[in-house]
Amino acid sequence: ESKRRSRNTISFFTADMTHKMMRRLELESDLRRSIDHAELEVYYQPKADITAGDIYGMEALLRWRHPIRGMVPPDEFIPLAEEIGMIVPIGEWVLRTACRDAMGLHAAGQRLHLSVNLSMQQFRDPDLVARIAGILAETGLAPEWLELELTETIIMTEATQSIEAFNQIKRLGVALSIDDFGTGYSSLSYLTKLPIDTLKIDRSFIQHCGHDGNSATVVSAIINLAAQLGHSVVAEGVETVAQLAFLRERKCSMIQGYLLGRPVPLSEFTTNLARWGKIVAALASPIA
Ligand code: C2E
Ligand code: MG
Ligand code: MG
Ligand code: MG
Repeated sequence: ESKRRSRNTISFFTADMTHKMMRRLELESDLRRSIDHAELEVYYQPKADITAGDIYGMEALLRWRHPIRGMVPPDEFIPLAEEIGMIVPIGEWVLRTACRDAMGLHAAGQRLHLSVNLSMQQFRDPDLVARIAGILAETGLAPEWLELELTETIIMTEATQSIEAFNQIKRLGVALSIDDFGTGYSSLSYLTKLPIDTLKIDRSFIQHCGHDGNSATVVSAIINLAAQLGHSVVAEGVETVAQLAFLRERKCSMIQGYLLGRPVPLSEFTTNLARWGKIVAALASPIA
């Protein structure tokens, strides 16, 4: 009986693995074609400065609209794109599209900052700095409007290269942000060595800061750390009024999350800007 069950388990597991491998292979070949087939889209999420009372900028977030599977989430296909070496051309496409879209907004009088996520492979690419400079020149976006987001894991893995790559990006006039701050396996010593502009507090800490004392302490500590290092700080994943109130009280000015707005296509982003602007202006006014 137990023998039979274990045999069944094995064959079931094998079938499951086969299915997973098939799905992966399929996704892989689909992903190779996704750029040419115009299945990739860049969505934008607003980032607010609740002290100044305005929309400070937007983060570009990649979406893959698969013709059969529908929306494939980035957490599912970006690791795959990294493995098969597609993330460099995809990342370049994201950067170019986002810079062009930001220029469009600027031309319409909306001077917003743009954040773009960078993956490990892109960071390793020896042509990265030249690519960024090329895209800025081509789209006409001035470098001070662009910020690149990197995770601690990328910095730690590429520790020796990081300093030079960071310095080169900074020399272009582009800002650098540490994404998902506090979740990587990190030695804080990189904070003293790299020219960082912004720490982005990971959503997992924000999620609990309204009701969990330890999360609240971590959030406060990161806000203070950023302030004392002279960096700006952004809270990501702000979903509730309680979280917002906590962050306001701790003087965290930059807020991003579903409470204000989800990532949306450019047209929807543009339509929503006036409404978001009013909400944020009201938050900054003393009677709010
Ligand atoms: P990330 O850069 O940390 O982006 C924040 C993620 O949190 C986004 O997920 C965003 O939609 C989500 N988010 C924002 N506010 C809230 C909130 O209030 N609640 C919750 N539950 N989630 C919120 P998304 O768009 O699925 O992207 C996931 C990750 O995929 C990103 O995390 C980033 O690491 C990666 N990614 C997205 N676009 C790109 C890209 O163009 N290039 C690279 N290399 N990575 C990207
Ligand atoms: Mg990010
Ligand atoms: Mg993040
Ligand atoms: Mg993340």
